[in-house]
Order: sequence, then structure tokens, then C-alpha cells
Amino acid sequence: MSAVTANRSHPFPFRTRKLSCFTYSSVLPNGGKAGKLLAFIFIQINFYSINLQFSMQRDSNRKIALERIEILFELASKSDDKFADRYVYLARKIAMRYTLKISQNLKKKFCHHCYIYFKLNRVTIRTNSKNKAIEYTCSDCKKVTRYGYRQKKNK
Ligand SMILES: [Zn+2]
Repeated sequence: MSAVTANRSHPFPFRTRKLSCFTYSSVLPNGGKAGKLLAFIFIQINFYSINLQFSMQRDSNRKIALERIEILFELASKSDDKFADRYVYLARKIAMRYTLKISQNLKKKFCHHCYIYFKLNRVTIRTNSKNKAIEYTCSDCKKVTRYGYRQKKNK
């Protein structure tokens, strides 16, 4: 009985033993140096192809992510406040996951402090001529986000 309990207490119940070490250097000529170099190059090429595959997949994923962000903001404009806030949250999450920037037009549609979707009854927009900025005052958290409108100088 004591042997059984000892086995149960062990995290890995099977008998473990080190495999006998087999090295290519014992088989290959020149102490296996050429073989090691070939293996190294082979692994490098494999890594390169895998990286290429990943980068291509990443680009396509980013494209889909951008589309989804736009769709979410479209939905937010049509739906209730609660759902709109949720859509903004999801869009931001997608952008973070794929390291995308939310475009300038879409950025102005939500509060940057509490992340609620801006509808006409939830925001007051006014221009500040002193700062040369458009100020979006959130009605929920009473904080202000500013977007400058300074014109570019003529050359
Ligand atoms: Zn806010």
C-alpha cells in the first residue's frame, strides 16, 4: 500500500529515465562540424520561411481588423448609448491587439478619458480661438479633449 501512495504522490507517475545521449559528431566526419553548420543553415532557412508566412498572415489580419473597426463604429452610430459604448470598447481592443491606429475621423467620435461614444446629447463641441483648437467636452466625465485646427503656413 505504501508503494502505491508513494506513486500517487509523485507528480509524474511513469518511470523516468534519461535517454542515452546520441550525437552526430560520432557518426559524421570532421568531428561533425560540417553537419552542424548545415543543420544551422537549414534551421535559419526554415525560420525565414516561417517568418515570411507569419508576416503575410499578419498583414491580412490587420486588413480585416481595420474593416471590423469601421463596421463597429458604423453600428455604434445607429445603436443605443450602452451598445455604442460596447462597440467603442471592442474597436479599441481590436486596434490594440493588432497595433493599429484608429483613424483621425473615428478618433473624434469617442471620449478619450472614459471611452463613451459621442452622440449629440453626450458632448458639447466648441472652438477655442485662443488655443486654436476644437474642444470636445464629455458630458459624462466633464473632461475636455482638444484637436488643433491651426492652418499650415504658406510657403
Ligand atoms: Zn468622458
